[in-house]
Amino acid sequence: MKSYITNNSKQTQKLGEMLAREIKGGQVVCLSGELGAGKTTFTQGLLKGLKVKGPYTSPTFLVMKQYKKEISNSKSQIPNKSQNPKSKIQNIYHVDAYRVDTKDILDLGWEEIIMDKNNVIIIEWADRISGIIPKDSLWISFEWIDENERKITLSSKFKIKN
Ligand code: ADP
Ligand code: MG
Repeated sequence: MKSYITNNSKQTQKLGEMLAREIKGGQVVCLSGELGAGKTTFTQGLLKGLKVKGPYTSPTFLVMKQYKKEISNSKSQIPNKSQNPKSKIQNIYHVDAYRVDTKDILDLGWEEIIMDKNNVIIIEWADRISGIIPKDSLWISFEWIDENERKITLSSKFKIKN
């Protein structure tokens, strides 16, 4: 387990952007924490770090939003340090399970989505649908400390490369 304290939303976004490097295709990133704890803010940074084109609107009224990753020019000689070269991420799904139940998520084609190694799934309120979350998922918990301070804890599945 590794924890970070952030003192404003920019820092939380930056953390998400930084952690994008650790995400590979086929992974499910589970975010837990109360309303206002910073899950969506963090996701915005994560999407930026995964090189997804914005705008990153919250899926609260959509349940799930799909982002297509821009396919980078493979002939490019410039290495992209921010990305895992082995990654073949093509789609990023941002799910908000706040208002829904497990069946609603399954109805979206969940099993197929999580099986595909080209997909990354980021899911807010993942603890509400824990029964359908794969065992090897990455968990990140968000705690409200005070108005501008948040504690963000990564599960031990995260292997941070420094
Ligand atoms: P959630 O998705 O967990 O409900 P949001 O990311 O939507 O939370 O909202 C977090 C709110 O808290 C935003 O209004 C944001 O500006 C504010 N905030 C203040 N400090 C922080 C911080 N350190 N990290 C993230 N958000 C913060
Ligand atoms: Mg949210």
